[in-house]
Amino acid sequence: MPATIDLHCHSTISDGLYAPEALVAYAHAQGVKVMALTDHDDIGGLSVARAAAERLGIRFINGVEISVTWKKRTIHIVGLRIDPEYTPLKTALAAVRHGRLARAKRMAEALDKVGIPDVFAGAQALAGNSIITRSHIARYLVEAGYVKDVKTVFKKYLVKGKPGFVDHEWMSLAAAVTLIKDSGGVAVVAHPGRYDLGRTNMPLLMHQFRSCGGEAIEVVTGSHTPPQYTQFAKIAHQFSLKASLGSDFHGPGMSYIGMGQIQDLPANCIPVWQGWEEADCLN
Ligand code: AMP
Ligand code: MN
Ligand code: MN
Ligand code: MN
Repeated sequence: MPATIDLHCHSTISDGLYAPEALVAYAHAQGVKVMALTDHDDIGGLSVARAAAERLGIRFINGVEISVTWKKRTIHIVGLRIDPEYTPLKTALAAVRHGRLARAKRMAEALDKVGIPDVFAGAQALAGNSIITRSHIARYLVEAGYVKDVKTVFKKYLVKGKPGFVDHEWMSLAAAVTLIKDSGGVAVVAHPGRYDLGRTNMPLLMHQFRSCGGEAIEVVTGSHTPPQYTQFAKIAHQFSLKASLGSDFHGPGMSYIGMGQIQDLPANCIPVWQGWEEADCLN
């Protein structure tokens, strides 16, 4: 049975294709009852999304997906039930967005050197007032006719070792977890199966995440295969972490799976939403 809770998705505030209101309407149409909006490094969509959710009878959870650098890798930490008015969180996210702007300019310069001009302006036009992500750069390269699809742009240009990739220092793991916790939220490692961490670093990440106050990992996500659901359910148990679930929906054609289509957590998991009043409608 598909789950009626979805704790990870994106709107146009970051790199999703639907504006916050439209995203909530889509989630509602898909049968979602409880949702969190988790835009990258930005909480600017939460109030509009919450109002839309209240109109439609969806239970809404304030969320964010923070970009973190851990051992020279980029890791994503989702914060759930955060307080969007908590000043240290707002200030720190503003600094990350500032860094993103500089990074996008450096990526555009790097692409210019391999014969692809005007990337910054092109990506910014797609992002509007929102942050510029690699997704926007990829979409620009597709729209301008350089590459056939977004997936191929990432492979050819935007991943480590490719001409449009630039190193970037995001927030530290401890800072992200602490900000989330101190704002009243719960920190969750997003799609742990995507980082290619290996036998030493995966347990190390879990251990460090837990030591600085992290409480859950995503077990069921659009980025995991069903065998990974089992693998990460085990890891959650091993490290006494709760389990989260979310589609990581970005828009039609941009995601592996839609909202309301993802399966429930394996039976042996402790749901991160256990005891939350927003989720009492699921029992
Ligand atoms: P950024 O945070 O600017 O590095 O952008 C990362 C975003 O790019 C992720 O959140 C995904 O939405 C998207 N992304 C990353 N890798 C891929 C890929 N291989 N194909 C399509 N989209 C991707
Ligand atoms: Mn994204
Ligand atoms: Mn992510
Ligand atoms: Mn995401």
